[in-house]
Amino acid sequence: MLLVNKLAKIYSNGEIEVQALKGVSFEIEQGEMIAIMGPSGSGKSTLMHILGCLDLPSSGQYFLENEDISKLSEEKLAEIRNRYIGFVFQQFNLLGRTTILQNVETPLIYAGLEKNKRRMFARETLERVGLGHRLHHFPNEISGGQRQRVAIARALVNNPSLILADEPTGNLDSKTGKDIMGIFHELNEQGHTVVLVTHEEEIAEHAQRIIYLMDGMIKWDEVIK
Ligand code: ADP
Ligand code: MG
Repeated sequence: MLLVNKLAKIYSNGEIEVQALKGVSFEIEQGEMIAIMGPSGSGKSTLMHILGCLDLPSSGQYFLENEDISKLSEEKLAEIRNRYIGFVFQQFNLLGRTTILQNVETPLIYAGLEKNKRRMFARETLERVGLGHRLHHFPNEISGGQRQRVAIARALVNNPSLILADEPTGNLDSKTGKDIMGIFHELNEQGHTVVLVTHEEEIAEHAQRIIYLMDGMIKWDEVIK
């Protein structure tokens, strides 16, 4: 499904250069559930942004569903993002002034769906994450765990084959974090490939495989079950 080869990323702000990734290679098969771990600053978010086509590598290759991502135009990249990828952020990143239903509908606007269909798909997806009873609430009227469920529904509404989550439980208490992990588990069982970043061993144990980053490189990459 996905292959990266000698992926490198250099951020340069004026005179300062940071080598965030220094040659990272791996493959991910359809249906895998993978945890990415590693200390703060090791390049986890940088890697996730590249996998999510939110950013491009400085060098190296990235193939997603047989497309060579580095060769695509901005327009084609957006299309790939819309078609294949759902991204969940630690900070939820919801639109505060619109309802939960509208938040989840947003990706479908970009996909060009008409309003009735958008409403229907958004509602169905919110029901899947247990929020069918909160459609017309605003993000500030629900709990952190519920906000993350909305963010997951938004990532899911296009039915992406690849779900990427960068520390999705980082802002949640451990009970709520476990519930959210349960959702990622279910999604994986339903056939979505899931890649998530976490600091917590307990969360990582839900994955079948752990990739451990250190200082922009893969320290180890192991199947754990
Ligand atoms: P992690 O998610 O593992 O904490 P990051 O991928 O966020 O690591 O960061 C890796 C390195 O790249 C760090 O040294 C960080 O300071 C640097 N970095 C991340 N984003 C940027 C940016 N936009 N500009 C400059 N440096 C960055
Ligand atoms: Mg990070």
